[in-house]
Amino acid sequence: MDIHEYQAKEILASFGVDVPPGALAYSPEQAAYRARELGGDRWVVKAQVHAGGRGKAGGVKVCDSDVEIHKTCEGLFGRKLVTHQTGPEGKGIYRVYVEGAVPIEREIYLGFVLDRTSQRVMIVASAEGGMEIEDISADKPDSIVRDTVEPAVGLQDFQCRQIAFKLGIDPALTQRMVRTLQGCYRAFREYDATMVEVNPLVVTGDNRILALDAKMTFDDNALFRHPQISELRDKSQEDPRESRAADRGLSYVGLDGNIGCIVNGAGLAMATMDTIKLAGGEPANFLDIGGGATPERVAKAFRLVLSDKSVQAILVNIFAGINRCDWVAEGVVQALREVQVDVPVIVRLAGTNVEEGQKILAQSGLPIIRATTLMEAAERAVGAWQNDLSQNTKVRLAT
Ligand code: GDP
Ligand code: MN
Repeated sequence: MDIHEYQAKEILASFGVDVPPGALAYSPEQAAYRARELGGDRWVVKAQVHAGGRGKAGGVKVCDSDVEIHKTCEGLFGRKLVTHQTGPEGKGIYRVYVEGAVPIEREIYLGFVLDRTSQRVMIVASAEGGMEIEDISADKPDSIVRDTVEPAVGLQDFQCRQIAFKLGIDPALTQRMVRTLQGCYRAFREYDATMVEVNPLVVTGDNRILALDAKMTFDDNALFRHPQISELRDKSQEDPRESRAADRGLSYVGLDGNIGCIVNGAGLAMATMDTIKLAGGEPANFLDIGGGATPERVAKAFRLVLSDKSVQAILVNIFAGINRCDWVAEGVVQALREVQVDVPVIVRLAGTNVEEGQKILAQSGLPIIRATTLMEAAERAVGAWQNDLSQNTKVRLAT
């Protein structure tokens, strides 16, 4: 899960990282008011969206008066900001953050990521941060400083000093830099983050080190133990299909094909998608309904898959270990009775209580296509979808 810049700054500040004074606003009037409250004569207005690249896309503006802030905000609120990270549909602007402008001397890049290869938290830093960081990492890969944290002992001050030295930080500011690095690392660990990024971390003309931008991403599987982080979720920034799934405790990723998949277990879901492709079809989604799939959960999954209008056949593939085939079968029957399903449904069940499951499907009197192996199920799904297509074509030709 991602959070907004202002939220990440609040978290980092609570761990001792210095940030400029700022305030959040939900309207142009409020933004102008917030600027007057903050004081000073120069501010930066920043669109709060879950994506980087806002500066280049016009989402970060320096303003010299409250009137200018008001005008700038009128051009931001309600608009979709399209940056190189949002995709063409962009992300809606419903909040802006107003900050006192800072005299920037140097812009540094600082990132903490979970490095799966070394199984460590990795620190990535560059003396040349700011908006061109992608170009720098491509053109001058050697200028990037990397270090990993040994989890048993945590981030050591000597490592922080070493990073500060490599970045060419003024020795008088080394202690501040150590504090900043330690603060980011502690925030990362404390809240089970998978990424903390400060770009730019700036050195100011008056010798301060400030996080001018901040991004944090959290491990969804650990959110249950951080309710204060879960609360920061902003659905306006998510793919509506995926957030509906998350609300229902299902793990869903939308794709571009036409065969909807309802599967238990991420590995089996991947294998199902591969088999559909092998059989000549294209999956419409990845959907893992998880371990204990009750009939209600299966029905929810059907509604979710059918909410995607490009779905022309549904393949249910369940290998019941913890799951029970009879429950899944009941769920399929319940869903087909409750939800209007006007596409072919192919069901393959294996594992615990498979006979009971098959019986429930057979006795339901519903037009469910049954299959015993995954290959057979995928071929039938692709066949049913192609059949459906040719029938539709015939209808269209006849009229
Ligand atoms: P991003 O483009 O989404 O990463 O947004 P940032 O928050 O990083 O802002 C983009 C750029 O705006 C930064 O790299 C800075 O150069 C500039 N910027 C942000 N805040 C200030 C500020 O307080 N003063 C000045 N002069 N520039 C700022
Ligand atoms: Mn940035």
